[in-house]
Amino acid sequence: MRIVLVGPPGAGKGTQAVVLSKRLGVPHISTGELFRAHAERATDLGLAAKEYMERDELVPHEVTNEMVHRRLEEPDARVGFVLDGFPRTVAQADVLKSYLAEQGAELDAVVEFQVSEKVVLDRLLARGRADDSADVIHNRFVVYRSETAPLLEYYSDRLVPVDAVGSVEEVTARALTALRVDA
Ligand code: AMP
Repeated sequence: MRIVLVGPPGAGKGTQAVVLSKRLGVPHISTGELFRAHAERATDLGLAAKEYMERDELVPHEVTNEMVHRRLEEPDARVGFVLDGFPRTVAQADVLKSYLAEQGAELDAVVEFQVSEKVVLDRLLARGRADDSADVIHNRFVVYRSETAPLLEYYSDRLVPVDAVGSVEEVTARALTALRVDA
């Protein structure tokens, strides 16, 4: 199964990605984690990405696309994946489509974890994280809405909305049901 996860910051997407990849038996591919691993190993891709990551900006598309392309060509990812953090723009979605077409494949589903800004704000402030001020959270939502709304439209024929308010187990069960996988 080839799926992409989308959701605003604080929706629990990373946690669900790990659980869903285990349940579906396919690798979890997180572009944020891949970038951090490349940066730690100081690879060409890591060095090219580092300054953007430090500024919390999107890494240029050529660098991101190259990294994703290489990862998708690895044997484990050829049978399926849970993709987390990519695509973030319609341009990246087009690129993903062409990479999959090279393999004669396409996405099975795009899971959208739905949660309101208010719920995320209450959760993160309750955790008391210093960098999670209301302004920071609001800005991330603004960016998410402007970047992601076009993606939801792009993927409207395979979009699977999932209510992300609840326990990890509840949300996983909803996602599996929505994907028609036995929970
Ligand atoms: P994340 O762990 O998803 O917050 O990603 C960490 C950083 O990696 C981001 O701030 C970006 O600099 C970079 N990154 C992750 N995914 C992408 C992407 N799809 N396109 C461009 N940059 C990305």
